[in-house]
Amino acid sequence: MIEEIMQAAMLYGVKDLRVEEVKKPKIGSGEVLVKIKAATTCGTDLKILQRGYLDRIIRVPTVFGHEWAGEVVDVGEGVVGLEKGNRIRAGNSAPCLRCEMCRRGKYNLCEDMLWLWGAYAEYIRVPARTVRVNVQQIPQHVSYEEAAIAEPLACVLHGADRAGIRLGDTVAIIGAGPIGLLHLITAKKLGAARVIISDLVEERLAFARKLGADGTIHAKHEDNVEAVKRMTNGYGADVVVEAIGLPVTWEQALRMVRKGGMVLEFGGCPPGTTFALSTELIHYGEITVRAAFHATPSYFRKAMGLIASGTLNVKQIITRRMPLKEISKAFDILENSKSDLKIAIIP
Ligand SMILES: [Zn+2]
Ligand SMILES: [Zn+2]
Repeated sequence: MIEEIMQAAMLYGVKDLRVEEVKKPKIGSGEVLVKIKAATTCGTDLKILQRGYLDRIIRVPTVFGHEWAGEVVDVGEGVVGLEKGNRIRAGNSAPCLRCEMCRRGKYNLCEDMLWLWGAYAEYIRVPARTVRVNVQQIPQHVSYEEAAIAEPLACVLHGADRAGIRLGDTVAIIGAGPIGLLHLITAKKLGAARVIISDLVEERLAFARKLGADGTIHAKHEDNVEAVKRMTNGYGADVVVEAIGLPVTWEQALRMVRKGGMVLEFGGCPPGTTFALSTELIHYGEITVRAAFHATPSYFRKAMGLIASGTLNVKQIITRRMPLKEISKAFDILENSKSDLKIAIIP
């Protein structure tokens, strides 16, 4: 007899996350059921928990979490290419491939995106569309927790492409959280000559130095715009990546880039916020400002490939492992701890 109940972390609203017994999902045709082996915490989850999020992306109540990897335990009728026992992960989004944005190849901006929530649970039902367009197999030598990180890495790879980082560039990153650190190791791999990273927490900067940051700025003790200018003979960085998600740091990024340089606004700001663009910097300084939202299935595939090949070592940003029943404690730790980056939740 297969048990019909599972443990899951249900999100009911802002600051209301509870581990409960819920019905184990049943699958239909085209779908697969996966036993989750590891799920990783994400800054986006923390933001959602603290302040809510866009309604069209997450509707409560729902099982929470979106970075996971596991083993296929049931396969629906008509599924091609997957069988019981496969180690897989799936992107948390599946574009429709039909809307105007998809037709233009902007799959991350799909107007009918299917979002997948439910990583912090014993099992997850992967819908048919996701099975078709955004599932990746995990090679034996890759751990489940590493594979789960393919999600944020996919977003970072998409952002790095938008930023057009080139061999020899000086890249300045605002924020040394998990996303900033993934940008750091990606920029180094893309051939950045120098990566400078700023944060308010010394422990994170120390971690960034361990991962290869060439310069770090403690933004509590030093103006990070001035510091980047000082480190670049007064010019500013070739590329600036904002990896926090606040209007104030979005604006800082504009002042940190050299003339003709590229600013990538990567961190999503609270809904309804705006920021000011200096006409002077844009016109006389010819700076380019871009943003990047989420990723497309091809970046998810690429991310999984780069983790599997060992090209990008993402394991180092997992700083702790905790059982599912302690999920709320895990988010408390992330909110308050200085040295924790990503926690692997093991159901
Ligand atoms: Zn994430
Ligand atoms: Zn679409």
